[in-house]
Amino acid sequence: MGRITETLSILTEADKESADEPRVLEEELAIGKKRLYIESYGCQMNFSDSEIVASVMRNAGFATTATADEADVIFLNTCAIRDNAEQKVRNRLKQLNVLKKRKPELLVGMLGCMAERLKAKLLEEEKMVDIVAGPDAYRDIPKLVEEAESGQKAVNVFLSREETYADISPIRLNSNGVTAFISIMRGCDNMCSFCVVPYTRGRERSRDAHSIVREAQDLAAAGYKEVTLLGQNVDSYKWTSEDGLEKVNFAQLLERVALVDPELRIRFSTSHPKDITDEVLHTMAKYDNICNYIHLPAQSGNNRILKLMNRTYDREWYIQKIDRIRAILGEDCGISHDMISGFCSETEEEHQDTLSLMEYARYDYGYMFAYSERPGTPAAKKYADDVPYEVKLRRLNEIIALQRDMSLERNQRHIGKVQRVLIEGFSKRSDDFLSGRNDQNKMVVFPKGNYQKGQYVNVLVTDCTAATLRGVTV
Ligand code: SAM
Ligand code: SF4
Repeated sequence: MGRITETLSILTEADKESADEPRVLEEELAIGKKRLYIESYGCQMNFSDSEIVASVMRNAGFATTATADEADVIFLNTCAIRDNAEQKVRNRLKQLNVLKKRKPELLVGMLGCMAERLKAKLLEEEKMVDIVAGPDAYRDIPKLVEEAESGQKAVNVFLSREETYADISPIRLNSNGVTAFISIMRGCDNMCSFCVVPYTRGRERSRDAHSIVREAQDLAAAGYKEVTLLGQNVDSYKWTSEDGLEKVNFAQLLERVALVDPELRIRFSTSHPKDITDEVLHTMAKYDNICNYIHLPAQSGNNRILKLMNRTYDREWYIQKIDRIRAILGEDCGISHDMISGFCSETEEEHQDTLSLMEYARYDYGYMFAYSERPGTPAAKKYADDVPYEVKLRRLNEIIALQRDMSLERNQRHIGKVQRVLIEGFSKRSDDFLSGRNDQNKMVVFPKGNYQKGQYVNVLVTDCTAATLRGVTV
């Protein structure tokens, strides 16, 4: 059976980078310090966590290096969401083994979701690994490194009910200096039957609202122009002060962050269809600097499958949410989705329901996956993974083809219109062009003129592909 990539999506250039390629934290000045190399896989949350790990390690006397060969300690911040994400990390370990053989004192640590899922078993399976640390154990990492330096294997996979790392300032080494992530909550209580996240990231907890606002203020003061509030299910954000007098929900948090600086754009991800409220949509409509874009994963368009997935909403509920978004934020609001093809027992007709839901929603983007059974999840325990791999891929390709057509059609709507674009840097293809995103999170490419990253510019869109808008500044 030919192995075709299982994770495909219609992505902008920058998204592609985050979805397919591991990210490496950049070089710091390291005179007299030990060197740490971190490579991050998977979701934005992991990239954001690596910035926290770098901060913890800086306090322990380490500086980051962008070159694995120069490192004293190498961390892989891993993802467990699908089998191919784990295989990628295992292959990378094989490459790193060559380094370790050359330099036996080199320490290799596995962090994140795969570390949490496999725990000490990882040390048996991957002999070259010295440290295993789950997503709630990052404060403990310097101690784990010390243990490993003394020749022992070191493991901390304790999941906390409280840890939010609220007081740790992430080191934004990978940053373009323009856009940054702010983690507002951790964990997930949703228990979608296919998903490993509740087991690898633990119970849901919301971070102190004041520390989030302070982080946004610090970023604005440092010249950042856009923040993305991150969580597995941001709409269930709920923080109560210790004295119980102050309660903040997601809409209120959005408003507080929007008020930090009108020039600071706000994005957020991910919204769960069961939780997104009219209050959130009205808050988005009220503030120009909250971007007109919502990532609203559907996973399937069929009610029987949605029930098996334990998504807790049905097709009609989802459609009603799309209608509310369009009614409150207008036809131009960008909407993207996650969709899974070939979930347990999915029939051809049920797959057609997914396609018809997509037709209804007119999504701007999609992140689309073939179902990958994850050990220990309710779906793995209760349902047979019985849709043949080739069928999953064929359905996935149909979903992707439809999304490509819709992305193109949605992008064509912008032709002839002026978009406000925040410049993020040079276009990947040429230094004669700059690129940035519009309100709806679409990548826009235009001739560089005398503009610089971090500036807002107005761009008249003249042309587009399914992934990118092209235009000229006006
Ligand atoms: N919390 C977010 C939500 O509920 O929408 C998504 C988190 S998950 C990191 C990102 C996406 O991965 C999910 O929306 C789902 O489409 C996909 N995913 C999760 N588990 C999967 C599995 N076992 N097989 C295939 N795709 C999966
Ligand atoms: Fe996984 Fe569902 Fe939680 Fe998203 S909401 S992280 S898909 S369990």
